[in-house]
Amino acid sequence: MAIRGSNSSDCFFMEKKMNIIDGKQIADEIKSEIAAKVKSLLDKGKPAPHLAAVVVGNDGASLTYVQSIERACREVGYISSVYKFPETTAEEELISVISFLNEDDEIDGYILQLPLPKHISSEKVIEWINPKKDVDSLHPSNMGNLLLGEPLFVPATPYGTMLLLERAGIETEGKHCVVVGRSNIVGKPLAMLLSQKSAGGNATVTVCHSHTQNLQDVCREADILFVAIGKPEMITADYVKKGAVVVDIGVHRLPDPDNEKGYRICGDVKFDEVAPLCSQITPVPGGVGRLTMTALLLNVMKAYEGKK
Ligand code: NDP
Repeated sequence: MAIRGSNSSDCFFMEKKMNIIDGKQIADEIKSEIAAKVKSLLDKGKPAPHLAAVVVGNDGASLTYVQSIERACREVGYISSVYKFPETTAEEELISVISFLNEDDEIDGYILQLPLPKHISSEKVIEWINPKKDVDSLHPSNMGNLLLGEPLFVPATPYGTMLLLERAGIETEGKHCVVVGRSNIVGKPLAMLLSQKSAGGNATVTVCHSHTQNLQDVCREADILFVAIGKPEMITADYVKKGAVVVDIGVHRLPDPDNEKGYRICGDVKFDEVAPLCSQITPVPGGVGRLTMTALLLNVMKAYEGKK
């Protein structure tokens, strides 16, 4: 199709734009599907799914995340509740809140926002979470089921990453996937999902971390490169094979006096340098981050349906 007024620089721009995976559009599509499902439940006189969030202390990132959870719930028609406690809350008090949420039949799933204050053992509190309501998949039994290929819930960020691949039509079977980062919430579960003997998996997976030798060489072997290292724009063009798919999971807010907000958001990948090299790439913002929340909403629906 001819594009009116196009010239070579427009064409370059369009070509470049076409390899950017639109996480927002994919997330919006999935959220519309969830909203339609909620509407049909309500039409049948059934209650909407209910997500609760537990926050201890005043960690700014946690509070912002919880606000975005409430917004996302509103968008799809879920009920949300936030249980907010002061920094000084005792471990036993928090465990009694968790026990209450486990028992409350009106709550389908809940998240325990981490990190917790230092005087509380996260491991101990997480043990108390009912795995059937553990929509963030923190409980060891949910992590174990993921390893066995039978997850009840998949942690939201790796789940969102897999949804993004699926909806963008990116095939993993037989591909060499390199995952940089091995955290329990992102890198490890993602590597596990990619290597499962099932659709969306069947990849050959290499996991890299801070002790990996010759990281650039290993990354350049990747057909699909997943980056979750928490280092702003560390992955430059030198790490990427021409034609590879690059999925940037990192998210950072960097001071930027040239930006009217005083900051800019970026990922672990140096986007402007890497984008022209690869066949497809996720931007930050507007990439994986958008799918994380959507994945959480899907987990809540799964908990709701499981309860019935
Ligand atoms: P962690 O800090 O828990 O893990 C970072 C991983 O990267 C570790 O495995 C670490 O290795 C590895 N690493 C660090 N430096 C290097 C290096 N120089 N070379 C190779 N490997 C390195 O981070 P998370 O997994 O929690 O998060 C990763 C990124 O993803 C962050 O930017 C975070 O903000 C973002 N994130 C985004 C989400 C979203 O929804 N988009 C949600 C969650 C996180 P080692 O194990 O050896 O220490």
